[in-house]
Amino acid sequence: MKRIAMAILCTILLITGLPQGFLQEAKASSVTGQESHVEIKTINGKKYCFKNGRKVTGMQKVGDDYYFFSGSAKGAMDGGWKIAKGHFRYFDKKTGKMQTNRTINGRKVNSQGIWTPVVVLDPGHSAIVAGGYEPLGPGAGQMKAKDTSGTQGVVTRVEEYKLNLTIAKKLKSLLEKKGYKVILTRTNNKVALSCKQRAEIANKAKADAFVRIHANGSSSSSANGAMTICTTKNSPYVPSLYKKSKALSTQILNAYVKATGCKKEFVWETDSMSGNNWSKVPATIIEMGYMSNPTEDRKMQTASYQKRMVTGIANGIDRFIIYS
Ligand SMILES: [Zn+2]
Repeated sequence: MKRIAMAILCTILLITGLPQGFLQEAKASSVTGQESHVEIKTINGKKYCFKNGRKVTGMQKVGDDYYFFSGSAKGAMDGGWKIAKGHFRYFDKKTGKMQTNRTINGRKVNSQGIWTPVVVLDPGHSAIVAGGYEPLGPGAGQMKAKDTSGTQGVVTRVEEYKLNLTIAKKLKSLLEKKGYKVILTRTNNKVALSCKQRAEIANKAKADAFVRIHANGSSSSSANGAMTICTTKNSPYVPSLYKKSKALSTQILNAYVKATGCKKEFVWETDSMSGNNWSKVPATIIEMGYMSNPTEDRKMQTASYQKRMVTGIANGIDRFIIYS
């Protein structure tokens, strides 16, 4: 009886328990084997990360810490604000280590090392135009129309407010992938919003950037290209925002022109835009192109060009957030 019982027990173990356990162990050890070969090597004074002997870039875990190896710097370790694994993170400029649970230049990184910048996008105009007047800026005696109907495509006949919303929505989804929190001042074409109300949405959100999306129109059909608009150094409303709003405008215009290949106009500094004047956060208007120019009007309605427009604006916002 005992011998039979032992034989049965052995058979059961062989068929069920043993082979499974053996396979699981084999898998586990091969995984640990891969992870154990991550190391940082110093070559010509710069630090690089190697995984199983191969140079790797991006955010990497070495020991208990995370580091950033920049693809644009041929894989060298790099510090400062970076977009890594879908979030903004800060890597110490000396040690290279990702920072957690601290505030850097007023920006709070959480326990996972994540800081979430807020961007408010304002698709200009609407099918329903806000009527009446409002002060040009805080404390201004001068009044200005709350909003206007905007321009229209000379060939496509598309209304500016529609193009502005299309671009704002595409830009929102791209920025969210990069780790931003994005708020739109309007999500459809049926809301009437004054310029002051648009700015108040950005103020309430304490936005890191307020980006107002517009397209231009001119009596000359040959006019083409992009410009950005910010308040002046001598603004009676927000003089302290000049440096930041100018930087935001410059970065967006440069990145936009680079991505789209359109003509670069200039950063127009003026205190005549009420939405910029009422903003308590860095603000810009981008005039993405001329709807009065047949070529630019057609281009701005194509998916491929819209992708470049959105990429350009997003790259400009990234540069502003990272370098200012
Ligand atoms: Zn406009």
